[in-house]
Amino acid sequence: MGAGRSLRWCGLVGLLLFAPLAEAAQAVPARPNILVILADDLGYADLGFQGCKDIPTPNLDGLARRGVRCTSGYVSHPFCSPTRAGLITGRYQQRFGHENNPQWNPDDTISGLPLAQATLPTVLKSAGYTTGCVGKWHLGAHPQFHPNRRGFDEYFGMLGGGHVYLPEANGSAEYQIPMDRNGVSEPLKGYLTTVLGQEGAAFVTRHQGHPWFLYLAFNAPHAPLQVTDKQLDRVKTIEDETRRRYAGLVVGMDDAVGEVLAALRASGQDESTLVFFMSDNGGPTSVTHSDNSPLRGAKGQTYEGGVRVPYVVSWPGHIPEGKDFDSPVFSLDVFATAAAIAGVRDSEKPALDGVNILPWLSGEAVPPPDRLLFWRASGGDQFAVREGKWKLVGTKADGVQLFDLETDLGEAKDLAAAQPQVFERLKAAYDAWNKDNIAPIFKSPPGAKPKAAKKAAKK
Ligand code: CA
Repeated sequence: MGAGRSLRWCGLVGLLLFAPLAEAAQAVPARPNILVILADDLGYADLGFQGCKDIPTPNLDGLARRGVRCTSGYVSHPFCSPTRAGLITGRYQQRFGHENNPQWNPDDTISGLPLAQATLPTVLKSAGYTTGCVGKWHLGAHPQFHPNRRGFDEYFGMLGGGHVYLPEANGSAEYQIPMDRNGVSEPLKGYLTTVLGQEGAAFVTRHQGHPWFLYLAFNAPHAPLQVTDKQLDRVKTIEDETRRRYAGLVVGMDDAVGEVLAALRASGQDESTLVFFMSDNGGPTSVTHSDNSPLRGAKGQTYEGGVRVPYVVSWPGHIPEGKDFDSPVFSLDVFATAAAIAGVRDSEKPALDGVNILPWLSGEAVPPPDRLLFWRASGGDQFAVREGKWKLVGTKADGVQLFDLETDLGEAKDLAAAQPQVFERLKAAYDAWNKDNIAPIFKSPPGAKPKAAKKAAKK
């Protein structure tokens, strides 16, 4: 037998041996579970992996060590509900008028995520995923906006914009509503953040063996600053009482995240689960004494302190572990990334404003240097554009300014006059983007505007 014939023969045997395996792999692709964990009003600097020294967050630090820390991770809005609308639709929420917080009113059919918008859980459900939401909803109080009607097979949590943490505590009507489990009310039985962690852990355990999507939205560390003595004891060295109580909320959330991650490990799913973690907006520094340093501004503002947030993506064995990724990534990228790894066909996806970032995180591709990110709040009273190292920020109080984030992360030196061409290019890009937006379709209820929005504080 000649060498050539022998090789051909080996190749044929190889084909025969491996063809069935390859076909099987194609027919049943291994699709990971998708876990999106959202914190509420967490300061940029208030986790160990972000440099925090006074609040212990070992579980979130562990998640960051087993994934990629995105140092320029952004959300699409500087406060609660619009960010969630963008996250769950994968689209700029200004395109469909969701630019404010919905009032708490179960009779209001307008204040909520517009029903015409496709949602991530709906798309994943069609692709065969089991979908669950645990925690803060804040996308409308009318029954038509209920998570079970917007694509989630299972829901447990509070439908409003916030909640008391202790069952016996007093709060506004919205903050005292009962827990909702698939449309049925039940009392809160325990410390809220702990309960949400337990519910999240139960979900991932219950659905092991079948691809699932869980959107776990804590209301911690959003006010009210209600904590247990045990939590306070772990941050007792913090002298400032407001920050100490806020830190207790962060510790409680870290514990709850730890419970969910432990459930993933215990059920052997940690390498088959893609995890996103981020905050829905920056810390409201004047209210909770959260810390956004070294960024300027706070919740409610389009300065970095309002929209740049702690942002981690973890998928052990599939993307790098313990690495930093510095190019901008967006909350709107969650939808596109999740849809891509779930194998959703383009024809089954809505038009998305984000992209699949996994090739960037794994190093297979590099992000385009001219990627543009946009923000608009209060119908345009505030806006921002990021392109590469440049950031254009417009506010009523301070006018339109241009910053170089590479040399001036704290947005202190306005370069509008020094860089007129960049200024005009970014302003024109904003105007072009904004042409496709509509006016807000509902207003935030009185008193629900973020307090930090009132002043444009320099850090
Ligand atoms: Ca928030």
